[in-house]
Amino acid sequence: MVLAAGLGLASCDSAERGALAPDSTAVDRPTVVATSTLIADWAAQVGGDEIDLNGILQPGDDPHIYEPVPADSIAFEQADLILYNGYDLEPNLIRLINAAGVSARRVAVGEVIAPLELEEDGSTVPDPHVWGDVSNVVPMVETIRDELIELAPDQADLFTQNAEAYIADLNQLHDWIQAQTATIPPNQRQLVTTHDAFQYYAAAYGLNVVGTLIGLSTEEQPSARTVQQLVASIQTLGVPAIFAETTINPQLIRTVAEEAGVTLAAQELYSDSIGAPGSDGDSYLKMMVANTQAIVENLGGSVSEPEF
Ligand SMILES: [Zn+2]
Repeated sequence: MVLAAGLGLASCDSAERGALAPDSTAVDRPTVVATSTLIADWAAQVGGDEIDLNGILQPGDDPHIYEPVPADSIAFEQADLILYNGYDLEPNLIRLINAAGVSARRVAVGEVIAPLELEEDGSTVPDPHVWGDVSNVVPMVETIRDELIELAPDQADLFTQNAEAYIADLNQLHDWIQAQTATIPPNQRQLVTTHDAFQYYAAAYGLNVVGTLIGLSTEEQPSARTVQQLVASIQTLGVPAIFAETTINPQLIRTVAEEAGVTLAAQELYSDSIGAPGSDGDSYLKMMVANTQAIVENLGGSVSEPEF
């Protein structure tokens, strides 16, 4: 075996020797472009240093209304692989991804999940916020793993190990959230947020979405009638607290809280983006923990420290 390995090295042609040079990994790494900060986080977890990862949206950006800049077109044109959410989460970026000049493989990571279908302006549309149920993220991470292996088969073992370790964390997170929300008194498991991003979370973790100010997208403005109906529902159900979101101006939901005479939780929820670096939600795992802590504490439950 030793001899064979020695011969192998001795017979290397120049191209193979080049691949072993320390500075060549950067050149060989596949370029992966991710639209949302969540997908970029998952791609980083699986790909590690073996991919050249470019995230288009920055923490705090709202994918529904994000307006692409010229650098985004260039990023898509130079990509080996484009990972996006789909179900129209990021409509302006999806339009750009499907534009002429983009030849990379395009994968709608969120669309591997069978969606909840919601009524929106008289028609039924798929709800793009699939990551609210942590168990949905497992097949999404497996999809990213398989796509990266396709791109860089030499790194298959590493991508497989990274995905496995991360999926173990996801499974623990899922169980932890279920245990926390179960501490909320049953009649107080009532969720009111600014936009309709928490249907999967509510379904997975036993909460009722009372209502939202605006629908699946954040483009619309709520009508006075919507505001009044929401205020009435909050009062009728005795909802203890309602929530603003990090990606949306909190002014309107603050008005709802004042009119309903209910607490607006001090902690804003991370809905469609992870938090800025250094914040308590600067990864997918951390944002789900922070959201759950805020929801459970404000609705009258008690939170235990996560152990993952
Ligand atoms: Zn959203």
